[in-house]
Amino acid sequence: MTGTSAAAVAGLGHRGEVTTVLSYLVDQAAAGQTPGLVDWTPRSPWDIWWICFRSGSPAETLGLRPAERSGGCAVCAPHVVELTRDTPMHPGVRPDCRRACFTAWAASMRSPEPVLSWPRISSGLAMVKPGGDAAAVVDLLAGQFVIEQPIVRILSTHDVRRLYPEAYGADFIAARDHYLTSAPCTVLTLRAKIPTPAGHQRKHAIREILGNSDPLRNHLHMPDNPGETWCDLRLLSGSHDDLYRRYDSADAAERLDHYRRLLGVEQAGPRRC
Ligand SMILES: [Zn+2]
Repeated sequence: MTGTSAAAVAGLGHRGEVTTVLSYLVDQAAAGQTPGLVDWTPRSPWDIWWICFRSGSPAETLGLRPAERSGGCAVCAPHVVELTRDTPMHPGVRPDCRRACFTAWAASMRSPEPVLSWPRISSGLAMVKPGGDAAAVVDLLAGQFVIEQPIVRILSTHDVRRLYPEAYGADFIAARDHYLTSAPCTVLTLRAKIPTPAGHQRKHAIREILGNSDPLRNHLHMPDNPGETWCDLRLLSGSHDDLYRRYDSADAAERLDHYRRLLGVEQAGPRRC
């Protein structure tokens, strides 16, 4: 890892920092603003790649300028520029330069870190993994959510990479790809009866009730934060209707204040990273 950031100084975990920046950029667009974040220095060029690849958005669309700000490794920085110029691409299972930056970055992103509190949103998504008990998950979610749109679909390997860009280790990635593409998943598009913070607690509570803690075969995928909720709705809902914008635009500007506090940055101005 190279570089520093205000968030790192403030003690925000690596994944927490990157998902907060993603959420900030998503909610800027939801609020009708042109995405762009001042005063954020990525810890690694791969932070910018993660945001672009996870969201399916070129760097320029998000106001991210990897050529100017990614810093770090002389091999990885231009690689990220190439991968995020148009439709974002995955670097492959072993993209490592001699410094093995991608693997070190991925390990940092997946390291244990403090759980963040996220602002409330109304839209949501749950994906029941192959072999999971979809009926039981529906029952457990029905108290808090209206299930707008159940879809049964088989994921592609590209879908799996978009869901978990920070996965690393060739054997783990191969096992995960095989499992998640082996049978249909059930995608549930959700609207909260009362707006609720996106967060990992509900997902883990459901997994505990359903009784499987295997790191792969754990029944359920649910995004942990507003930005990834938008990404997953875009990737998996199979709908051109932007539910996030429909249900969550009204409070987007308020959520931007929450992210600024997390990142320790000032009110956004015209400058971009
Ligand atoms: Zn490198």
